Amino acid sequence: MTDKTSPGKVDMDKMVSLCKRRGYIFQSSEIYGGLGSCWDYGPLGVELKRNIKDAWWKTNVQEREDMVGLDSAIIMHPQIWVASGHVEGFSDPLVECKNCHLRWRTDAITEGKCSSCGGELTEPRMFNLMFRTFMGPVEEQASTVYMRPETAQGIFVNFSNVLTTSRKKLPFGIAQIGKAFRNEITPGNFIFRSREFEQMEIEYFVKPGNDEKWFNFWLEERLNWYIKLGIDKDHLKLRHHGEDELAHYARDCYDIEYLFPMGWAELEGIANRGEFDLQRHSLSSGRALNYFDEETGQNITPFVIEPSAGVDRSTLAFLLDAYEEEQDKEGIRVILHLHPSLAPVKVAVLPLSRNEKLVPLSREIWSRLRSSWMTQYDDAQSIGRRYRRQDEIGTPFCVTIDFQSLEDNAVTVRERDSMQQIRVPIDNLKAVIAAKLAGEAFEEANPGGS
Ligand code: ATP
Repeated sequence: MTDKTSPGKVDMDKMVSLCKRRGYIFQSSEIYGGLGSCWDYGPLGVELKRNIKDAWWKTNVQEREDMVGLDSAIIMHPQIWVASGHVEGFSDPLVECKNCHLRWRTDAITEGKCSSCGGELTEPRMFNLMFRTFMGPVEEQASTVYMRPETAQGIFVNFSNVLTTSRKKLPFGIAQIGKAFRNEITPGNFIFRSREFEQMEIEYFVKPGNDEKWFNFWLEERLNWYIKLGIDKDHLKLRHHGEDELAHYARDCYDIEYLFPMGWAELEGIANRGEFDLQRHSLSSGRALNYFDEETGQNITPFVIEPSAGVDRSTLAFLLDAYEEEQDKEGIRVILHLHPSLAPVKVAVLPLSRNEKLVPLSREIWSRLRSSWMTQYDDAQSIGRRYRRQDEIGTPFCVTIDFQSLEDNAVTVRERDSMQQIRVPIDNLKAVIAAKLAGEAFEEANPGGS
């Protein structure tokens, strides 16, 4: 019997070790001892992350008539960060231990003492989280630029460019996926909080007065996206921000929280930012960032609803929620029940043995499948071991080529979650896997097989 492990109970150390062992995620700069809270995505991690970003883009850009994409630069005019309020206000309160000199965000301190050595702490001071660097060959104040701490500002400053070139009417949105950098004081919990990460952000522009309706729309839309891609709805919740907690720009805000091993924590923030950003950049740049409303014949500043998600936090949540351990006769079997559209490898091709007749047929099948999906070919060790290896990385389908295949031109397809096996004619194989990936039942996808 299987018992789905609750993610609140999945041990983070187990996940870190699985990710390293199987090539999902490595500590950055590992051979030099690692670099604080930066992570590298290995051969499987890069596929998972790319699939998550593709799924987000498909739902939010490709399938919508009211959305367009953008890819703005990481380094932007420094005045942008003055206008947005980041230079002045994007800071966390920091305290330092007088004894061991470790620095902490004040909310990471529980008893007024250093969480590492118990030493006395300094008074809190504000610490700006933006990374600074210099542009051009002269390292001076005037050439200071920032690594963006969010992708959103690149969208706001391109509002007019996108509006005039895409000829969109309100309401419409601009979506962007890209790197962001924050010099976090107390990073941690694996890829949950790192100093370099990726965001998937939407700025959705609406007529003032319609903002509440669209705010509610995006709350539901974004919550359902995680559920549709396989996260248990009981492991997700919406948390409303209290008045005292709202960021300076926000009229209203909810966090979508996930039940991580360390407890409920933010996966995505959804804010009603009103007209704050467009207005600030209009004033600061001297360029009007508004919209001509044909109905009233007036120029208006749209309000904006912002669903802001983290690629890395989503990756972690999808991995944790997919994780299951099962006791079988060989010990503990780990299965990642990743949604097939997110799984890094869709199909594994496994000849029953390294027999000289099976290998060429298997390699031919493998090369046919490679043009459609990420695949793996594995002929090392017993077939049972190989199924386990594929289950552990979340591969939804394994194709086994055996001696009978040489006679009947059919192969066995095994499904990860049900462990059901069906015999499929080689000529049908691609169609069957495509139908399965599109969500059809196993039998229906294989009318000619058994
Ligand atoms: P937190 O309160 O956890 O620091 P935040 O409220 O500052 O997060 P936002 O500014 O709302 O985060 O950023 C939007 C999203 O970007 C977050 O929901 C999260 O998924 C992601 N994110 C923010 N900071 C980090 C980080 N340091 N590492 C990984 N992802 C991050």
